[in-house]
Order: sequence, then structure tokens, then C-alpha cells
Amino acid sequence: LANKKFHPDPTTVKVGNTSIGPGNLTIMAGPCAVETQDQLFTIARAVKEAGATILRGGAYKPRTSPYSFQGLEEEGLKYMQEAKAETGLSTICEVVSLDAIEAAVKYVDMIQIGARNMQNFILLKEAGQSGLPVLLKRGLCATIDEWLNAAEYIIAEGNPNVVLCERGIRTFETATRNTLDLSAVPVLQERTHLPVIVDPSHSTGSYKYVAPMAKAAVACNADGLMIEVHNDPAHALSDGPQSLTFDRFAALTSELSPYCQLV
Ligand code: PEP
Ligand code: MN
Repeated sequence: LANKKFHPDPTTVKVGNTSIGPGNLTIMAGPCAVETQDQLFTIARAVKEAGATILRGGAYKPRTSPYSFQGLEEEGLKYMQEAKAETGLSTICEVVSLDAIEAAVKYVDMIQIGARNMQNFILLKEAGQSGLPVLLKRGLCATIDEWLNAAEYIIAEGNPNVVLCERGIRTFETATRNTLDLSAVPVLQERTHLPVIVDPSHSTGSYKYVAPMAKAAVACNADGLMIEVHNDPAHALSDGPQSLTFDRFAALTSELSPYCQLV
């Protein structure tokens, strides 16, 4: 179902009042984690102003340590819904369980399956049954073939609205958090009709490398970008070092604006 051989035309996935697909660059941006209502609203307004069309914000955080901030859960989803009402941005939130999916369908426009859950096949099936479009991130150690099979799990449940997100893979290199595999973009575009976006934030782990990798992703013909933005990266509850300030984000989007949807 994901294979281009049987579905040659590229798919466009509708997300709230916007869409992801060929012909324009969709920018998703927002904090790693929803921290407070105020923080989310401040960031939502700034990313909207700079040209993002989808607000990201994690309410269920799959953290490496159980002692790190785990997310506001349903309260965070409510803030996402309010931020949408306030700004008109469409919204996406990661889900980590069936409970989270059931909550997310009430509040957001798209759900995200994170890298750590890419082969959680039960979760993939439940995401396929949710009725919401799904952003499927590449697993840390997943081949492109395994990733496409994970997409197949979602589509096989009757949900064709899947977007793939390259977010870096684990290699021997330690200078960046992960290694951004940009060659995955043209490989996927040859093999699947699904939209492909790139996350230069989680792949590099450092705000300094986000802009060059975002521009490289656009040069590879990616359909969109997911970028972490924070009002105060030094005090962010998660992923501060890779988060762009409002100024840095706006500088990047102004360079990318010729490729973006005019809203
Ligand atoms: C995220 O987008 O918040 C996230 C945790 O990303 P990943 O699953 O790619 O690590
Ligand atoms: Mn993050």
C-alpha cells in the first residue's frame, strides 16, 4: 500500500486546515515538550508569525531517563487545542500508548509515532485505526525497508494518511546526536508515494546545525521540516540545546519562504 509501484501519484496528506505533499514546503515547529499554557501560546504565536503552519508540542515524552520530565499528558493536549484556536495553526502531538491516542483524537489534528516506537506494531495498528493522519518517525536503528513496513502497518488498518519523518539514525559518529540520513529522502521518493519530511533538530542535537541541515533537506526535495523552537532554550525542560530561539527560527524561515505555502 505504501509502494509507489502500485500507487504512482504522490500522496498529499491533509492535516487540519493545511496539507503535506508535493509542491510546497510545510514547516512544523514548536517546543519539544508542552511545559505551560503560557509557554505554548508564546511559542505558537512566534512560529506562526515566522511562517510555520503546524504546531508541534509533546505531551507524552518518551525520555531516556524515567526521572526526566515526562510531559503534561492530557492537560498538554488541551493547551495544544487552545493554541490552535488562538493562532489557527494545525497541531501534532506524539502518542506513546492507546490511552494517549484516545486522548489525542479529541484535541489535535495529527499524531506522531516517535523513533522509539517505530516498531511498536500494536501502537502502529492503533494509530491506523485512530482516523487521524500519522507522522511516522524513522527508528534509531531502522532500515528504510523496516520503516516502510511500519508505514504499511498503519495503512493496512485503512488509514492512508501517513507522512514519513527522517530524524537521524544511530551511527559511530558522536559529534552530532544522531546522523541525519538525507539520502533517505530521494530513496523514499523513489519507493513510496507518501510525503517525506526531515527533522534537523533531533538528528543533530544542536541548534547550530539545524539551519544548514534544514536547507539541505529542502535541496533534497523534502516535503516539509519539523523544527524545535523554544522561548528560552537554556531553561527548556527537554531538548534545549537543539531548540532554536525565535530570532534564529525566523531567520531560517525567511530564507526558506520561497519554498513554503503562502498562507
Ligand atoms: C520528538 O519529536 O519530540 C521526539 C521525541 O522525536 P524522536 O522520536 O525523533 O526522538
Ligand atoms: Mn525533542
